[in-house]
Amino acid sequence: MQTKVFHVVIVGAGMAGVSVATRLRELGFAGAVTLVSQEEEAPYDRPPLSKQFLLDGDADAIRLQPEALAAQALADIALIRGNPAVALDVRAREVRLGDGRGLRWDRLVLATGARPRVLPALARSPRVQTLRTLEDARAIRQTLTLGARLLIVGGGPIGLELAAMGLRLDARVTLVEAADRLMTRSAPALIAEHLRRHHVDSGVDIRLGRSVADAPDDGHAVLDDGARVAADLIVVGIGVHANDELAVQAGLAADDGIFVDGFGRTTAPGVFAIGDVTRQRNPATGRFERIETWSNAQGQARALAAHLTDPDNAVPYAETPWFWSDQGELRLQAAGAITGDEQAIRGDPQSGRFSLIQWRDGRIVGVAAVNAARDFHMLRRLVAAGSRLRPEVLTDPQANLKSLIAAAAAPSTPA
Ligand SMILES: Cc1cc2nc3c(=O)[nH]c(=O)nc-3n(C[C@H](O)[C@H](O)[C@H](O)COP(=O)(O)OP(=O)(O)OC[C@H]3O[C@@H](n4cnc5c(N)ncnc54)[C@H](O)[C@@H]3O)c2cc1C
Repeated sequence: MQTKVFHVVIVGAGMAGVSVATRLRELGFAGAVTLVSQEEEAPYDRPPLSKQFLLDGDADAIRLQPEALAAQALADIALIRGNPAVALDVRAREVRLGDGRGLRWDRLVLATGARPRVLPALARSPRVQTLRTLEDARAIRQTLTLGARLLIVGGGPIGLELAAMGLRLDARVTLVEAADRLMTRSAPALIAEHLRRHHVDSGVDIRLGRSVADAPDDGHAVLDDGARVAADLIVVGIGVHANDELAVQAGLAADDGIFVDGFGRTTAPGVFAIGDVTRQRNPATGRFERIETWSNAQGQARALAAHLTDPDNAVPYAETPWFWSDQGELRLQAAGAITGDEQAIRGDPQSGRFSLIQWRDGRIVGVAAVNAARDFHMLRRLVAAGSRLRPEVLTDPQANLKSLIAAAAAPSTPA
């Protein structure tokens, strides 16, 4: 594996692709590494696009590994920009690029991420936008000026982060969510209600159980109940589709996400996939799912790089999923399952700082924390360990989490 002719080709230069490229070098991989990006932009980090970037527009601040990638000769990572991979020949081990060029690989990594779902009813309106790329964020930033009327479709993390930023930029913000609560996929109901109250109190007009039916040319959007909402900009944040077409065309097992194991192995020998484009076993649910988080992209990349450089000692990726979401003054952090058969609150929601812990069959399976970063980092370890610490212990305000964890974080025995 450590020969100069050995070539790892990585398709997609987002967090997953850049992480595996740089990790290979950190681990001393001596072969060639090529990163293929369909974007012209130098690689960048996506989480700030719905946060700080909307305020300051500072693209330099969000570049990924600038020192490694700017000095490519040093890092020895070839970056091909503005040139998508368009087809794979798994037998010949060759990927064809948009400009007709063919690249031979010894190992191929698909890190093509995901793209936003769109609403067909709104697809033709020039006022409608999604938020995935730096270009999207620049376009949103340009329209979000004082007094602009922003309509957000979708009450997930990106929609709520954008709502908070809209208010900071003095826009008037309406958010429409089809479900009867916010954050259905990523936060427990109690937390979602806490967030809803915070956003409403801050000035966001939230309409639950509603969808957008039309966006006529008169500067309004029409909701399914006939209500008309004035909107200069409509941002749709209703989830994503995996960019798994290359894999599907090449015959790899995929279903809106490429199936992988803990080393990113797909069903084709020598072909790997990592990041948002994958479908992997989620340790929190036991099901094969897409885990669309920043930490997952890096964790999978690290496990794959270790596997490629030292397969005998590599450890498969099996981290309990976790993410954060900054929504105005609230920082939400969550790990593991969002529901259980028992739940308890540590801290006081009235104070604005608390954690909600979930148990299933006596084991801690999830935690979601609001403005309680210290508790979150410790409780997350109990989730990962499947601890059996009881609610009355963890909700005791005098309980010292650090010492409880020292005693309990050792892997527990099966029930
Ligand atoms: C606005 C926003 C805010 C977010 N905030 C958070 C957060 O607060 N916390 C959190 O945990 N996660 C957050 N995330 C999620 C996190 O950013 C993603 O999970 C992570 O970026 C996934 O990285 P990736 O490399 O798998 O995919 P991507 O970042 O999507 O990168 C994939 C790259 O591959 C390229 N590509 C696709 N097809 C091809 C092709 N055929 N040829 C060449 N290139 C191709 C794409 O153009 C893209 O550049 C956020 C995401 C967004 C969009």
